[in-house]
Amino acid sequence: MTYRALDQNSVIDYMRDLGGLDENIPAAAAMQADEVGDGNLNLVFIVRECEAPYRSVILKQALPYLRVAGESWPLTRERMRFETQALLKQNELAPELVPHVYHTDDGMSLVIMEYLANYEVMRRPLVARKRFPHFADHISTFMARTLFFTSDLYLTGVEKKGLQATFINPHLCKIQEDFVFTNPFMQSEENNWNPLIDNEVRAVRSNSDLKLAIAEMKAAYMTNGQALIHSDLHTGSIMVNGSGTKVIDPEFAFFGPMGFDIGALLENLVLNYLSHFAHTPDADERRAYQEYLLDLVREIWQQFAAKFEELWLQNSRGELMPAAYWDFPGGTEAFARFRSRYIAEVLHDVAGFGGCKMLRRMMGIVSVWDISSIDDPTERAIAERLAIRIGSRWVLERKRFTSIDGLIDVVREECRTVESRHDNT
Ligand code: ADP
Ligand code: MG
Repeated sequence: MTYRALDQNSVIDYMRDLGGLDENIPAAAAMQADEVGDGNLNLVFIVRECEAPYRSVILKQALPYLRVAGESWPLTRERMRFETQALLKQNELAPELVPHVYHTDDGMSLVIMEYLANYEVMRRPLVARKRFPHFADHISTFMARTLFFTSDLYLTGVEKKGLQATFINPHLCKIQEDFVFTNPFMQSEENNWNPLIDNEVRAVRSNSDLKLAIAEMKAAYMTNGQALIHSDLHTGSIMVNGSGTKVIDPEFAFFGPMGFDIGALLENLVLNYLSHFAHTPDADERRAYQEYLLDLVREIWQQFAAKFEELWLQNSRGELMPAAYWDFPGGTEAFARFRSRYIAEVLHDVAGFGGCKMLRRMMGIVSVWDISSIDDPTERAIAERLAIRIGSRWVLERKRFTSIDGLIDVVREECRTVESRHDNT
């Protein structure tokens, strides 16, 4: 089908021409569509059956440009192919943790998927101090399964490269390369920061050790095709409720370093932690929730590492390395050391990537709502300065961390001054 951007009316014609979606929405039914996308990139419609609104689907379509920037910023529609392929792969590897896919159309650059009724994007409830008892379990399963089963630890070399060839996603990679690792740390006109942290921003941009470390993380992002990563796994790409977790929006997916996904998630939880210095003035309430967030960080990593290693032990069919390779006296121990060093390297990447991403949110093109929603610039600067200190240390000290507690201790150490200041007021 030749491409045309849909609107509220033509989206219904499109559904009708499809012949409906079987048990979801029959073609003859009266339908209503609303555009709900709060995202920066694409059109997102909810299409409902008027007589039976519980029968709803999401239709997401890529535009040939970046939505927030308008037509002056072309961006290839091919990104929808990556999103579709990633959703299908994730459905295969982590069913129940992503929306079901009902229909895909490459020519129209669209996908029709499950409408996640009763789910909300995670960022806001985290600011409202909601708790999600199954979240660490769910998201660690998502990451362990999607990363392990697309890596050389599970796939043969030929399988891995065959899959990787279908995920060469240069234009969306370039967005991350520019806006996570490069532009925030040099003069670039789209950069945006709180004038109260001018000095801190300037210091980051002229800190040789830090710039070198960020350049090394960028090199790893660009060259370490370790597994199929989501590549934008922040709390705005996760929808939750009391019992479920769903990962959405994988258009940046490509073969990159595992630590980029885990780092993005943990770094967003830390930014949310920092935002509560402003959002939650009551000290007891704040501390309790901040502790909950640090427990989440610990649980997510520990459960990820345990599940990942267990998958490895149970499914050791990849060519890195075949079981026979370890078949020698002492081989069992050597294999155990290989696993533990591999996972330790992922943790270093979590700190390195998480740190870069924390920094870029303070001085690049996009902040995070948790922090940008703090109206008072002085209050906001408290969180921002801490994010810069923590992010810088995560990147610079990444290779010294031997457990997740090292990353958590940096958060606690840097926040101590603010806590005593809050206590005295
Ligand atoms: P973009 O790529 O443009 O950022 P997203 O995939 O993040 O688009 O979707 C934008 C918004 O649409 C999400 O923040 C969420 O509110 C809503 N949304 C997306 N997918 C679904 C879904 N499957 N069910 C319900 N709401 C969804
Ligand atoms: Mg998106």
